[in-house]
Amino acid sequence: MNNKIQDAAIIYQGVSAFDGKPIAAIATGIKRKSKNSKTGAMVQLWIISQDLSPYDASQASSDTSNCGDCKHRHSLGGGCYVDLLKAPNSVYNCYKRGGYEDINAATLAHLSSLKVRLGAYGDMFAIPYKPLANFLKHVRKRTGYTHAWQNLDKRSLELARKYFVASVDNFEELVKAQDLELSTFRVKAPKEVMTADKFGYGIECLNTTHDIECADCLLCNGRDTDKTRPRNIFIDAHGNKLDRFNV
Ligand code: SF4
Repeated sequence: MNNKIQDAAIIYQGVSAFDGKPIAAIATGIKRKSKNSKTGAMVQLWIISQDLSPYDASQASSDTSNCGDCKHRHSLGGGCYVDLLKAPNSVYNCYKRGGYEDINAATLAHLSSLKVRLGAYGDMFAIPYKPLANFLKHVRKRTGYTHAWQNLDKRSLELARKYFVASVDNFEELVKAQDLELSTFRVKAPKEVMTADKFGYGIECLNTTHDIECADCLLCNGRDTDKTRPRNIFIDAHGNKLDRFNV
């Protein structure tokens, strides 16, 4: 296999930990910087079905394979901010054309110097524990979000604590996630006044308050060590998510 640093590569191909169907996880933007205006220059991770485009999978309600039980899926009428007809479909089409190779050793080694967004589309916990844990060993600076935190086994929960924030949808879930020692990320109704949790009132996303890109912020990076206090980060619903909050 070519051992030059790749710009994009497959990090996993196999069954989904969520429903056993075939998925692929692809990293893009390794050499060429991504143009996402919120995240800034970060390697983007896409978790997709091997057999259906993201849009078709959503239309067929087959997106459990890559998104788990996330309630924001379009297939459930949710307000997921990802436009399935854009980047996720392009990644899928390139994958089906054979445009990506398996990640090589040089690229894996290079990743540890880059900032990585764990899950531009799909949930990283769709990848079974062993390949996920092996991949994460190469990731240092990152943001990561998971909706699967309520259903993880003990060792996967440890990965979630270290590398991810738990996506929570209300205060009750926030408290539950904090009881599991997870950092959290919550999209809330703009009119809702934040209630103090055991760590205080939380931190409003720095992209909102200071116009900082995720690549420069990295607050949503889980907890580096057990001694790092879990964080509670929140953002007001905006864009197509507003409808969900009836405001
Ligand atoms: S808190 Fe920071 S890392 Fe998290 S979403 Fe906001 S800007 Fe990105």
